[in-house]
Amino acid sequence: MKSATPQDIAQVLGDATAVTILCHVRPDPDTIGSGLALALGLSRRGVDVEVSFPGAETLPRSLTALAGADLVVPAGEVVGHPVVVSVDAATLGRLGDLVCRLLLEKKKIVIDHHVSNTGFGEYNLIDPAADCTSILILEILDALGTDIDSDIATCVYAGLITDTGSFKWARPESLRIGARLLDAGVDGAAWSRALLDSHPVAWLSLVSRVLGGARFDAAACGGHGVIYAVVSLDMLGPVGWADIESIIDVLRVAEEAEVAAVFKETAPSKWAVSLRAKDKIDLVPLAGAHGGGGHRRAAGYSDSGTAQDVIDRFLRSL
Ligand code: MN
Repeated sequence: MKSATPQDIAQVLGDATAVTILCHVRPDPDTIGSGLALALGLSRRGVDVEVSFPGAETLPRSLTALAGADLVVPAGEVVGHPVVVSVDAATLGRLGDLVCRLLLEKKKIVIDHHVSNTGFGEYNLIDPAADCTSILILEILDALGTDIDSDIATCVYAGLITDTGSFKWARPESLRIGARLLDAGVDGAAWSRALLDSHPVAWLSLVSRVLGGARFDAAACGGHGVIYAVVSLDMLGPVGWADIESIIDVLRVAEEAEVAAVFKETAPSKWAVSLRAKDKIDLVPLAGAHGGGGHRRAAGYSDSGTAQDVIDRFLRSL
């Protein structure tokens, strides 16, 4: 893998006239915040920019309120500019059907903080010591001499607060950056509420059913204990996919369990599996064994079959 510094990437982007930015499937605030912060910075330099993500899902309502959201185009309408930047995607698979766009004759830039990222670009800025990808984007924008106004700062902040769980596991540098972003005009209280503490009323009864069906296996993971729950398509009702992403954060509070897993049915018999660990288990090899990836304490993968098939495969792999 060829590594690049933020300055290297700023140089490539500084020379570009048209850039395509790709976010990962089922986009979260870090991938979209990263994509939009970079898009805003580049478009102000006169660069022609498009941002996209793969899959049938639409942008979650909380993220459509970010500045620059109008630069997002549906995956089917991506032009594919000469410079392509992947943000916060740990694998090519996370870019889904947009992968072909990245593999064409383009300058490929990969910016990410997942330790499992193998560096599938020509220029790879992969920093597992960064709490989120959006602060890597901030470093690139700083290297470009971009004015970090409240719109760009808010996009970076969106990734920072969500990937650090409201700064719960933030590194000191992230707190310093958070202060800088608030000084730049971010409405921290409003964005925390919108991105972390806001769900429809129907979400409460869904969570109650999901948690009521949770199973705890004390013997799993060498006796460290695993708790897991299933969110099947028929349980969703009016609740959208983005609202179920946070259920893992409720489940993982179980103090007897080192590992928490949520099995989310994304299409009939297709599952996205979210994993969280406390401090004894490294989830990267576990998710990797199922074709996924992520961080030591937060990872995921995809699987298919019945809920029981997917759960059995997971428990056997522990
Ligand atoms: Mn991230």
